[in-house]
Amino acid sequence: MRIAIIGGGIGGLTLGLYFERAGIDCTIHELVPVVKPLGVGINLQPHAFRLLAELGLADALAARGVEPREFCFYNRHGQFIYAEPCGRHAGYAWPHFSIHRGDLHEVLYEAASKRLGTAQVITDRRLVGLDPGPDHVRLRLQSADGREHTAQFDAVIGCDGIHSAVRRHLYPDEGPPAFEGIHMWRGVTRAAPFLTGGSIVRCGSLNFGKVTIYPIRNHPDGSQLINWVAEIRKGALTHADWSRPGRLEDFIGYYADRRFDWLDVPALMRSADLILEYPMVDRDPLPRWSFGRVTLLGDAAHPMYPRGGNGAAQAILDAQCLAQQLAADTDVVDALREYDARRRPATTEVVLTNRRQPPDAIIEEVEARTAGAPFGKLDDVLPITKIREISERYQRVAGMDIATVNRASS
Ligand SMILES: Cc1cc2nc3c(=O)[nH]c(=O)nc-3n(C[C@H](O)[C@H](O)[C@H](O)COP(=O)(O)OP(=O)(O)OC[C@H]3O[C@@H](n4cnc5c(N)ncnc54)[C@H](O)[C@@H]3O)c2cc1C
Repeated sequence: MRIAIIGGGIGGLTLGLYFERAGIDCTIHELVPVVKPLGVGINLQPHAFRLLAELGLADALAARGVEPREFCFYNRHGQFIYAEPCGRHAGYAWPHFSIHRGDLHEVLYEAASKRLGTAQVITDRRLVGLDPGPDHVRLRLQSADGREHTAQFDAVIGCDGIHSAVRRHLYPDEGPPAFEGIHMWRGVTRAAPFLTGGSIVRCGSLNFGKVTIYPIRNHPDGSQLINWVAEIRKGALTHADWSRPGRLEDFIGYYADRRFDWLDVPALMRSADLILEYPMVDRDPLPRWSFGRVTLLGDAAHPMYPRGGNGAAQAILDAQCLAQQLAADTDVVDALREYDARRRPATTEVVLTNRRQPPDAIIEEVEARTAGAPFGKLDDVLPITKIREISERYQRVAGMDIATVNRASS
């Protein structure tokens, strides 16, 4: 059995590593001619880190990322709302790591090139055509210089991200990603650690400007690379390009007074090494991913709002499930159908919850109940039981509640 993986991002490379481990012959085809460390911060919570550790990548990831201790929630005035421990500090058998996407991608790319062989991890190959038949699938790929390449495989897995060509082949009339008017500016700044040096802070709400801040790299001089994401409801849809540069003046006004004793947010934003702008987009869940010998994985299957740290994680969970299914089933078509049945309902829930009730719903709820004003006593605004309910519900939906993850580990 020979399988083509389209897209050498987080999901495609993880899938390649799982296939190699299961003895399944595969070739990864990646669009970009040269793999570069792109993006900013990404979170690997215990449900996903467990799987990357299973692939033998724990040490390489731990050496590059930061193991956070806690999630903290504040309103826009800097008033503390809630904190909860994360990863091993919360009782998980596996750690949580926050990491630069470029570092995660590099670890996966190096491992895949070494274990699969560089001939099986091909760059400069854009999928431009797909012709599925009863016994195999023919592919048309193009390099940047316009040369065409054809190949034939037993199955094709579309891991080609939010603008997936494989998905477009399966759903030609779907149109652009869904947008509800929220923009994100993402940046990284080298700075001194704040709070515990392992705090993932969410502060403020969409109407007044929300910001999520966490460290993603430790430097030998004691400083950290700090990732921040400003989220504001404003403006029309721009092209969803992960590498589009952003402008400080478009959002800094929302954060000018967020100078807290634990962090000067505007100063952090002003000292950024890099600012990127990205519209908060996703797509409506699909009724089906697997069609005969073709299926989808990761953002190609279920692009979601990057809230709650599950974009990369769910792609990693898909990869493990698909490899397990293909190793167990003698028939490729049955295996892809079974993978669809196992992963599609689970990820549909995450996509919808990331839209309507992500973890930061805690702050939205407080700001709505106080009309954005400072509160006196939090308990009079939102009882702690309600706060815990929101948090625990998200963990269950994303398959990352402590009991589920620890049970899977044992
Ligand atoms: C450049 C870039 C930067 C990102 N930065 C961040 C970030 O900072 N934070 C964050 O949370 N998420 C980021 N993401 C998204 C994040 O990686 C995904 O949401 C998540 O990890 C799921 O991974 P994926 O493999 O499904 O998709 P991706 O990681 O997006 O990978 C898709 C891959 O498919 C390739 N591809 C696309 N079209 C074709 C084609 N026709 N033929 C062949 N290959 C193709 C792309 O080049 C890419 O390598 C970024 C994605 C990209 C591509």
